[in-house]
Amino acid sequence: MGARTLRSVAELDDAQLLAPDVEVNDLARVGERYAVAVTPAMAALIDRNDPSDPIARQFIPDVAELETLPGEQADPIGDLAHSPVTGIVHRYPDRVLLKAVHVCPVYCRFCFRREMVGPAGLGTLTPEELDRAIEYIAGRSEIWEVILTGGDPLVLSARRLREITQRLSAIGHVRVVRFHTRVPVVDPYKVDAGLVDALMASGKTTYVALHANHPRELTADARAACARLIDAGIAMISQTVLLKGVNDDADVLAALMRAFVENRIRPYYLHHPDLAPGTSHFRLGLDEGRALVDQMRGRISGLCQPTYILDIPGGYGKVPVLSPAVREGDDGCFRIRDYRGGEHIYPPPAESSVLNDKD
Ligand code: SF4
Repeated sequence: MGARTLRSVAELDDAQLLAPDVEVNDLARVGERYAVAVTPAMAALIDRNDPSDPIARQFIPDVAELETLPGEQADPIGDLAHSPVTGIVHRYPDRVLLKAVHVCPVYCRFCFRREMVGPAGLGTLTPEELDRAIEYIAGRSEIWEVILTGGDPLVLSARRLREITQRLSAIGHVRVVRFHTRVPVVDPYKVDAGLVDALMASGKTTYVALHANHPRELTADARAACARLIDAGIAMISQTVLLKGVNDDADVLAALMRAFVENRIRPYYLHHPDLAPGTSHFRLGLDEGRALVDQMRGRISGLCQPTYILDIPGGYGKVPVLSPAVREGDDGCFRIRDYRGGEHIYPPPAESSVLNDKD
């Protein structure tokens, strides 16, 4: 007891979580630019003797974050362009994102919404904004699924989550309520009976999509938290971001996917990292990602195969990287066709500045 979330470079330094050769003043500039938070569970998981520790790499700031490449974008997947009312992103006809909150229990250094989340981010919906977001959903019969994301919706209290799920339960055409979260891994004790109950939308199917990137994240506590959700009748799927220096290794990815399946979590998406500002040190090329996914195929059960997916920069939707809609050109760039037929060019990692759309 007594351990608390570390929220600044100085606190990380005091906890001896910074590399010995790091210049703390430089790193403090990163902390001023992007939010920092490391929960006790994640601080305990970091191997302080390993300078390449994949858990530390996800949460401990790096001076490389101060370098923003020309092609990197504050809103890389185009949330704002598809936001008809505050808190709603309506990109595809049958589903919406409901972004009730823009804080997280941890701040991932590669976050695609890093310009929106954190204490200086877009904040939490006011009661009036939440009313308007729910009215938007209620007024559109084509909305079959509501995806609560943000931010991490599971930072909300059970009381506030219950209020949202009850309001969604009352909308007949909404059939599925999905929560995107890192909480079962980074703050597993938050997933108690009250929280689990609050996620259950009466008469609907509840899904929880767990974001985890390395098999070590699935500690005994994290596995127990997931079991509490699943035993209550919640279906779980996984989301993983493919990250250089964290999981860009077929054995690590295979171990992670197997751990999901062993814990009754269906591997869903392996995301190619987005063009978020100051994250180029995490990005592989699409060709490298393809090679890794190819290596996994055949080596592990079909149950363990996620879909390798790219969010087309600019908000044009997702595309499976291994589909014919993604073609490599002779110039090293990829030609990508979105689900509406628009064509886009995706650059190799070092050339993010040449990104442009041909819509
Ligand atoms: S939990 Fe999700 S939204 Fe929050 S910092 Fe990590 S990637 Fe971003």
